[in-house]
Amino acid sequence: MRNRRQTLAALGSIAMTAIASRPVWAAASIKIDDASALLVIDVQNCFLPGGSLAVKEGDQVVPVINRLAKGFSNVVMTQDWHTAGHVSFASSHPGKKPFETIDLAYGKQVLWPDHCVQGTDGASLSKDLSIPQAELIIRKGYHKDVDSYSAFTEADGKTTTGLAAWLKARKLQRLFIAGLATDFCVAWT
Ligand SMILES: [Zn+2]
Repeated sequence: MRNRRQTLAALGSIAMTAIASRPVWAAASIKIDDASALLVIDVQNCFLPGGSLAVKEGDQVVPVINRLAKGFSNVVMTQDWHTAGHVSFASSHPGKKPFETIDLAYGKQVLWPDHCVQGTDGASLSKDLSIPQAELIIRKGYHKDVDSYSAFTEADGKTTTGLAAWLKARKLQRLFIAGLATDFCVAWT
């Protein structure tokens, strides 16, 4: 398969262009109201340039997200939050390299470089995010044997993060999604 850098080189620049040239509030049919929420996915040091699983030019989304977030009173952020020795790390499988795949009980798993280990600087949200009104940070991927890309459901397809129930309880019905990386955690969310 293509590695993340190649995939993002193709997808990222397209998504960035679309976002930058046509902000969501420019479309007359889209209204951000009290039932709307912005989900900011995994804007963490490991996924930014210099990080262990960096998205090429991923830092360019940060000011865009900061600008978008000003239009939302409800913002939720997610944080990839793995145990050391997590099943999604190539280093946990002798002889395997990052971006190879293995078969797990729940299906095919891409193996990644070690990233977003709980409590490390790499797992921290970017210090350049400026979204003080964010109400909730959902951590995911903290079950050692299950990966989690989506903000809602882990990679086994059944373990929930609790986000859907929280949104329901808060009567938030309309979601806008931004973050890193567009080919995995944003797409799965
Ligand atoms: Zn991860």
